[in-house]
Amino acid sequence: MDLKKYIATIPDYPEKGVMFRDISPLMADGNAYSYAIREIVQYAIDKKIDVIVGPEARGFIVGCPVAFDLGIGFAPVRKPGKLPREVIEAQYEKEYGFDTLTMHADAIKPGQRVLIVDDLLATGGTVKATIELIEKLGGIVAGCAFLIELDDLKGREKIGDYAYKVLMHY
Ligand code: AMP
Repeated sequence: MDLKKYIATIPDYPEKGVMFRDISPLMADGNAYSYAIREIVQYAIDKKIDVIVGPEARGFIVGCPVAFDLGIGFAPVRKPGKLPREVIEAQYEKEYGFDTLTMHADAIKPGQRVLIVDDLLATGGTVKATIELIEKLGGIVAGCAFLIELDDLKGREKIGDYAYKVLMHY
């Protein structure tokens, strides 16, 4: 299936110079959405995944249906102040300054095989911090899966030797 038909491109959003890749037309089409999710489900089966981890907010939209389909758990990665119990934190560098991501301290059990799922890989800062959080908890990052990679931003360099899957390249 040509999934790119279902991605809207918005120039200069949310700021000048950014080409925003909007997955909402894909989510709105039942066939395209389920095709994309099933591709990631198959990848998760191949990697023998125990739990899905997704960064807010679009990582939930892609990651939760994958976890549901496999009958495994989903653990959210969130901005500070959003998770109500004990959390661990990881920082990552943004264009201007740093940002922090958090996870519940009991979200992953040591030795669990984790698949990180997000809508889009850009600079790789989000996925790198997410890998750090999972490993702090003793989880094994068995792979990462994205609907979209923005190739020019070289996020794959931050993923390094971890396995990853992408459905669309821009
Ligand atoms: P990064 O940490 O730079 O890899 O950015 C990844 C996150 O930012 C993803 O969760 C995306 O939702 C969002 N993002 C970054 N750049 C774009 C873009 N051009 N279009 C849509 N979403 C983006």
